[in-house]
Amino acid sequence: MTAAPQSGSGSSEQVSNLNPNLNRHSSTGPPTLRPTDEYVAGITEGDRVVLSQAITLLESTRAEHRARAQSVVNACLPEAGGSLRVAVTGVPGVGKSTFIEALGPSLLDADHRLAVLAIDPSSEQSRGSILGDKTRMGGLAGHDDVYIRPSPTSGHLGGVARRSRETIFLCEAAGYDLVFVETVGVGQSEVSVRSMVDVFLLLALAGAGDQLQGIKRGIVEMADVLAINKADGENRTAARRARAEYERALELLGAPEDDWTVPVLTCSAETGEGLSEVWAAVRRFRTHAEETGAFEQRRRNQARHWMHQTIEDALRNDFYDTPAVEDARPDLEARVERGELSSVAAAERLLEVYRSALADR
Ligand code: GDP
Repeated sequence: MTAAPQSGSGSSEQVSNLNPNLNRHSSTGPPTLRPTDEYVAGITEGDRVVLSQAITLLESTRAEHRARAQSVVNACLPEAGGSLRVAVTGVPGVGKSTFIEALGPSLLDADHRLAVLAIDPSSEQSRGSILGDKTRMGGLAGHDDVYIRPSPTSGHLGGVARRSRETIFLCEAAGYDLVFVETVGVGQSEVSVRSMVDVFLLLALAGAGDQLQGIKRGIVEMADVLAINKADGENRTAARRARAEYERALELLGAPEDDWTVPVLTCSAETGEGLSEVWAAVRRFRTHAEETGAFEQRRRNQARHWMHQTIEDALRNDFYDTPAVEDARPDLEARVERGELSSVAAAERLLEVYRSALADR
């Protein structure tokens, strides 16, 4: 993996928990914070070390790092937006990493530059899982036109997702025109990734009659393109059957965009069969969405969504971190649990405590 987080910053310690090899480039001293324009110049020149350092700043928990990261993101915004952002989702083991790796060479042949980002909101519980996956993308990782970045490893989903979205912008400013966002498939992460991509590609498996139960319906409904992976060997027939079942299910569920019938395809990331058809469907969706205006509309909605999400996160943190709220909370919670106070009344009281604390600030 050439594109692992490079030098030390707030999050290098967390990265070292995942894979000690990644720390081999780390400096031992305190991280040096570059001026904003140095980051911006490095990123727009396509310098991957600087890009990695800027992303590490984004993921840092230190306020000065995050402030610098924000100014870098802002300065890069005019250069961002030029990629096709594709979510590759599906349950763990469905073949997301294998799929991206297998598709990669033909995309590189077509002169694309690929960034592969991962979102793993559960990484705090399962440290190392997704990085383990990423290191298997051995074939792509060494390529000059590929940038692979594992998931940030801390924070709740909202924060992880917001940083991933900003990471997309930085990658775009660095000239990557195809950004794959891979999720670990834990329900909530798909919802979140949906709000930062242009195309939502869902990989599914043919199962023993439980195709649709295996995946939350809500996630199937988000798919712009659906592919049954591992359609090889003895699994071919089951994959074709699953395809028909998904097609029927999607007829009932409807497509995420008007006048778009979600293509359901079969493929094998292992043999390569069907991959070019899946990619053609992704491109067809892009063209369709551009023609109908849905592409721009999604991006506008997403920008607004993240603005409000950021406000909500900040307000929530400020509320719960306020000492007077921290003091009053346990007793109110206990009274709610005992049934002495209604949830709403307790919430009102705690909000009152917060408001008075605000007034005293
Ligand atoms: P992820 O967790 O979704 O990223 O899944 P991986 O890409 O790590 O794949 C999980 C396992 O399935 C690996 O052992 C792959 O070799 C295997 N696999 C992936 N795609 C295919 C496929 O199309 N056919 C078969 N037979 N195996 C596959």
